[in-house]
Amino acid sequence: MRDAAPTTIYLKDYTPFGYLVDSVHLTFDLAAHATRVTSRIAFRPNPDAADRTFFLHGEELTLIRASIDGVQITPEVTDKGLTAPAPDAPFIWEAEVEIDPGNNTALEGLYMSNGMYCTQCEAEGFRKITYYPDRPDVMSTFTVRINGDLPVLLSNGNPSGKGEGWAEWTDPWPKPAYLFALVAGELIAHPGQFTTMSGRDVELNLWVRPGDEGKCAFGMEALKKSMKWDEDVYGREYDLDVFNIVAVDDFNMGAMENKGLNIFNSSAVLASPETSTDMNFERIEAIIAHEYFHNWTGNRITCRDWFQLCLKEGLTVFRDAQFTSDMRSAPVKRIHDAIDLRARQFPEDNGPLSHPVRPESFQEINNFYTATVYEKGAEIIGMLKRLVGDEAYTNALDLYFDRHDGQACTIEDWIKVFEDTTGRDLDQFKRWYSQSGTPRVTVAEEWADGTYTLTLSQRTEPTPGQDEKLPQVIPVAVGLLGPNGDEVRATEVLELTEASQSFTFTGLAAKPTASVLRDFSAPVILEQDQSNAERAFLLAHDTDAFNRWQAGRSLAEDTLLNMIQSDAAPDADYLDGLLAVLRDGDLDPAYRALMLGLPTQSELAAALHENGETPYPMAIWTAVETLRQVTAQHVQDLLPRLHSETVIDAPYNPDADQSGKRALGGAALALTSRLDGGAKATEEYKTADNMTLQLTALSCLLRASKGQAELAAFYDQWQHDRLVMDKWFGLQVSMAAPDATADVARNLTEHPDFNWKNPNRFRAVMGALAMNHAGFHRADGAGYALLADWLIKLDPVNPQTTARMCSAFQTWKRYDTDRQALIRAQLTRIAETPDLSRDTTEMVSRILDA
Ligand code: ZN
Repeated sequence: MRDAAPTTIYLKDYTPFGYLVDSVHLTFDLAAHATRVTSRIAFRPNPDAADRTFFLHGEELTLIRASIDGVQITPEVTDKGLTAPAPDAPFIWEAEVEIDPGNNTALEGLYMSNGMYCTQCEAEGFRKITYYPDRPDVMSTFTVRINGDLPVLLSNGNPSGKGEGWAEWTDPWPKPAYLFALVAGELIAHPGQFTTMSGRDVELNLWVRPGDEGKCAFGMEALKKSMKWDEDVYGREYDLDVFNIVAVDDFNMGAMENKGLNIFNSSAVLASPETSTDMNFERIEAIIAHEYFHNWTGNRITCRDWFQLCLKEGLTVFRDAQFTSDMRSAPVKRIHDAIDLRARQFPEDNGPLSHPVRPESFQEINNFYTATVYEKGAEIIGMLKRLVGDEAYTNALDLYFDRHDGQACTIEDWIKVFEDTTGRDLDQFKRWYSQSGTPRVTVAEEWADGTYTLTLSQRTEPTPGQDEKLPQVIPVAVGLLGPNGDEVRATEVLELTEASQSFTFTGLAAKPTASVLRDFSAPVILEQDQSNAERAFLLAHDTDAFNRWQAGRSLAEDTLLNMIQSDAAPDADYLDGLLAVLRDGDLDPAYRALMLGLPTQSELAAALHENGETPYPMAIWTAVETLRQVTAQHVQDLLPRLHSETVIDAPYNPDADQSGKRALGGAALALTSRLDGGAKATEEYKTADNMTLQLTALSCLLRASKGQAELAAFYDQWQHDRLVMDKWFGLQVSMAAPDATADVARNLTEHPDFNWKNPNRFRAVMGALAMNHAGFHRADGAGYALLADWLIKLDPVNPQTTARMCSAFQTWKRYDTDRQALIRAQLTRIAETPDLSRDTTEMVSRILDA
């Protein structure tokens, strides 16, 4: 291992940097293997800092020269940075370094993608560009000159000059170095325009490689909608003359909010009906909004240190979720978010990688861009809003922007604006940021003499580093339904703050049925002893869209667990309830499609594990297949109607309405394929004129072990389109039968188009392998070994992407001892790889420590 004893950084050790930065001037002389970066930085002693050590971060840089106030110096250089004697007075630092973007495969710092230069600096990538105090609490204005013979030269801020072979950019807004960006390449602009609420004209551009011009229109519209929405809902206006977005093929994450120059993974911005699915469109709209919203929540107000990451990410995810609810369907978005939280965040929070939303220590910050920081971080804000009310939330946010604009802040600052606006003591609420693990809320009920009593109790299992848990503030939204299905008590938010608390409802004529945790009012696991009859009742009558869906989901889960545990037959309450919902033509098609969903096989494994049983992946897979088959037969007569109800005779539009219809039509097609052997899917594939339908039909065929001819035709049709080819790779692995999955994946890694250094392509295959539950967990360990082989191969090339994918192993302690031994052997093999990156070392050792 590279670091025998890797260093751990602690939140409690925070101290400010000894100097402030007044201005940064950078000059880039671009060359693929020898880019020169010249910096001129004005430093001045920081009156709030005790320590004047002048240490600048710097990694993988060749220092050519350095000077202070024009006097050449020889700093002490290590592989982490340099130290120099600096005056206790303002001074000018100048340095010239050489870097090698052409060989930068880690995609952090300045790197190249298809002949284009681009940067990724969050979290700590700027130190790979030049020597600098690379920490978010050091903020400065930047002026950047780019010299290079590529036609398009971009950086942050406003353009301030250009000529043949050069361009200069000036960013008037002080920013931390992680928001720095530079792009140079042969790019084409898809232009747009926006006038802000105070009348500022903003030039918008979406920059793409030649050939991608036809995939820009949707992203541009999403950007304009985002700009307008942030003005309307948060009163936040854009603050530069230009806003540029660049699409790049090689990118570790979704996208990056660099000031005035967002850089996007091309999969997160490029879209067309022929090449993108409805889900792609929805995701792109949300990511564009997310990055745009960061301009205020992240850029204008940034984080003091990386422990505060959720300050910008939780809030920005919450804001993009509000945006999506407004643009599309609020209940559908809420259900999507709950599904996503349970699929990605709950396993993280209940396994070896569990960490607080605001972590207290890390070895590699890149390992903390997690579902917990992002999605649980957003849920916390949703709870806060529910607790204080909409108006107080708006006032608190106004105060936040007012008080902290231009600052690098902490969670304490954030909580304080809510305390100051509402007068409420939020000390206990703050535990959501420090306590890890998913709280479990149990519900007990009592009925006597017209009084209904709900007793709510909470407990959280121990998590790594946290054995003792304290009660949290949990907003539990509850409504009551009377025996005929009418709502007898509208939604009320019960505040659970003790380990156990009772809430009474008086004056009721008959024993009600409680609808608990409406709208998924808190990110908790609800443990409620409900009969299937009660669930069926809620499925039929609940006025809360989320809980109506949840009732169906609980029925489905219960049925599946009974099938797995006791070979039971599928439950009639579930099947009949589902049929009734599907028949209800007044219900939104998107919502009906969601009703047809089932818990993932991984979620079922988690549920079994919690019940003290060992999950066997093939038993789970078989139960799901059986339930699907039985469902198809049960709703058979309705399928033709669902198909005709979801026919669209209008030009393709990825809006909520059409995509909801396609989702229901697709779900119906999947059921139909189980009955007709894929006949209808074959027809649909032939006539499909959009990617949603084409991919749905193809997956139905692959699921039925058919579709090989279509798969080959799909390849011929789309081999020139890398984003569609990612789907082609991924789908084959997702749809493979359990015993074939590892072999299908291995064969695909030998395909000439498997460019494994491209994160999207790597994830298409390896991510799909890890997600195919029964396939990944094949009893002989072939899935584990294949993933480990490739993680070991990728690590020296791209540690960030490797480390993230290690989380595929995080649930290993759920399974039987044979599988645990197989996984442990693979994790150990990875851990013992010579020169393993710090990123992967940290992840593997945390997982192994379970
Ligand atoms: Zn973000």
